[in-house]
Amino acid sequence: MRQVADLWTRAQELLPGGVNSPVRARATVDGEPVIADHGEGPFLFSVDGRRFIDLIMSWGPLILGHANPVVLEAIRRAAERGTTFGLSTAAEVELAERITTHIPSVEMVRMVNSGTEATMSAIRLARAATGRDLIVKFAGSYHGHADALLVQAGSGMAALGLPASPGVTRASVAHTAVLPYGDARAAAGFFAERGDEVAAVIVEPVAGNMGVVAPAEGFLAALRDLTRKAGSVLIFDEVITGFRLGLGGAQQRFGITPDLTCLGKVIGGGLPVGAYGGRKDLMSLVAPLGDVYQAGTLSGNPIAMAAGAATLDVLSQDGFYEVLEAKARRLAEGIGQAAAASGVQVTVNRVGTLITAFMAKGPVRNFDDVLKSDQKAYRRLYEGLAKRQVLIPPAPFEALFVSAAHHDRLIDDVVEAYAEALAEVKQE
Ligand SMILES: *Cc1c(COP(=O)(O)O)cnc(C)c1O
Repeated sequence: MRQVADLWTRAQELLPGGVNSPVRARATVDGEPVIADHGEGPFLFSVDGRRFIDLIMSWGPLILGHANPVVLEAIRRAAERGTTFGLSTAAEVELAERITTHIPSVEMVRMVNSGTEATMSAIRLARAATGRDLIVKFAGSYHGHADALLVQAGSGMAALGLPASPGVTRASVAHTAVLPYGDARAAAGFFAERGDEVAAVIVEPVAGNMGVVAPAEGFLAALRDLTRKAGSVLIFDEVITGFRLGLGGAQQRFGITPDLTCLGKVIGGGLPVGAYGGRKDLMSLVAPLGDVYQAGTLSGNPIAMAAGAATLDVLSQDGFYEVLEAKARRLAEGIGQAAAASGVQVTVNRVGTLITAFMAKGPVRNFDDVLKSDQKAYRRLYEGLAKRQVLIPPAPFEALFVSAAHHDRLIDDVVEAYAEALAEVKQE
């Protein structure tokens, strides 16, 4: 314990809040931060020797669990051949082939190092292609921390209750319009007035950063229709949903084809990778084919590409997503039953393998509904689960991530922990 306290003190002296990404600072148990030491399949071990069933799973990338042997072997082999070249490699072509095969709307792709870079670059491209400035996003969606997208954003911004970030100039967000998620009528109204100014609509096809919220029936189709008629670019931010909801992502699940797609998380196999891609005529505007500038010293890093390709190969094995989705269903139904038995107000949203259990009366369809959830009760739930060695996101605006390594018996253990923790929440 002393060792943890010492490490945390040093972290706080050296890193803002002791962390390199804000929500991590909330991952505490009995006031002690959870500092990761190592992971093994579904388990995370903290530096003070505690073992947790991990449902954070690095916030999405670890769809095969921690330290998957196939991915590790790919990383090891790639690393031995050199860590970076700053030149073309076979590895980047191989990952690009897998992405474009599984997501047909992505005819060409550019690798970057994070989801943030992917959305930022996609927006730049859409603006260049249309010669327009205005972008439309939806309240409670998170698209990374690029200036133009950092308004009414989900994830850590929502957890901290920040409507916007200081340091983002008024000019940076002057061309960003924010509409309610899932509301086709509001989008139609906006396009009727200003459609010819809209460069792009960027949307999480299933919202994952205000907790999991399914798109209302017809919402994505309406966005497709409105953008097509207005000559605007439709960007699906599939950084969470890509290769999580299935090989073809949310666009395949809902049968809607965007012009550009942003990817991240799963495609890096646990290493830092993002990507944006889409219609060839649009991607042909990116330098050096076109003059929309975007670059990266470590982009297409061979170790990251190898980890990503190895991961996608496992995902494309027959039945992978059916098995994963059955696990997610088992967990969601179990939590729902535990909640009903406890009498605590809980609404479980699940889309495919993505789950959030909101401490709220349902339905939860948009950011306003999400904000009605009981954040104190969620915090007590987090603590009750952590005491029982189950790690869920410490803030309520995130998804639970199940991996292929979470076998059914563990999921039942998680459900039992929920039942006990919810009973405690009820008592308080
Ligand atoms: C995580 C996420 C991002 C940002 O990705 P980073 O790699 O953290 O920069 C963007 N969009 C969505 C939908 C995300 O979930």
